Amino acid sequence: MAGRLAGKRAFITAAAKGIGRAIAVAFAAEGAEVVATDIDETALAEIAGSGVVTRRLDVLDAPAIARAAAEAGPVDVLVNCAGYVHQNTIETCSEEDWAFAFDLNVRSAFRVTKAFLPGMLAKGAGSIIVISSAASSIKGAPNRFVYATTKAALLGFVKSIATDYVKRGIRANAICPGTIDTPSLADRISANAAEAGSVEAARAAFVARQAMGRLGRPEEIAALALYLASDESAFLTGQAIVIDGGWTL
Ligand code: NAD
Repeated sequence: MAGRLAGKRAFITAAAKGIGRAIAVAFAAEGAEVVATDIDETALAEIAGSGVVTRRLDVLDAPAIARAAAEAGPVDVLVNCAGYVHQNTIETCSEEDWAFAFDLNVRSAFRVTKAFLPGMLAKGAGSIIVISSAASSIKGAPNRFVYATTKAALLGFVKSIATDYVKRGIRANAICPGTIDTPSLADRISANAAEAGSVEAARAAFVARQAMGRLGRPEEIAALALYLASDESAFLTGQAIVIDGGWTL
């Protein structure tokens, strides 16, 4: 099949919904063979077919990651999308919140990338993409203490990998989205509704953060991931790319 990712194989975590799902669909539409993974097998099934193979993977489960990587074989593109948004400050962040956030948002990327890196090194090529956030070392956001800390850690993660493997054909980049209209955002809007006065007011507060006055769409993040996955971005590595409707302006 022709397309910007023709001949490439991609492995994506947290691909059943939201940003990960849009990336899986966009990659397949551009000719990639996609292994889309998630814990939600029902939602995953909706994108199976037409270039997308689905597989259950809980990125908190190290042996399962090793099995999934062995089964998938070498890939050209890896997208680490799994992440959870705690709403907390340092005062309200518990030890459990801290451990869970680092396990899901950072350790999973470490384990999954480590599992796929040997295959990329053997090919002498690979694009590693992580979904960080504009809310991190890029911009302070209220009530995002552990979330922002983990997403900032991912920027060090990609810079380090990009530096260590730049001469061996491996690129690593982070996408830093602003507020994107996904199922997880809907959960956060519901959680904030009481404090904001209503669901509409909570949603309006998220919309107001973006200078463009609207939320981003998962497909807009997928378009950037597609560029980073393709050879069009061959000269680009180690970067944190902000895509936020002007939030950080
Ligand atoms: P989403 O809730 O729409 O989808 C999250 C997916 O992750 C779900 O399909 C869920 O089943 C899966 N998942 C949860 N735990 C998992 C696990 N242990 N193993 C595998 N899969 C698991 O989320 P989203 O808003 O699209 O967010 C995706 C990524 O983008 C996250 O890393 C998030 O931090 C980041 N992000 C989101 C926004 C936003 O505004 N939505 C902004 C910046 C960054």
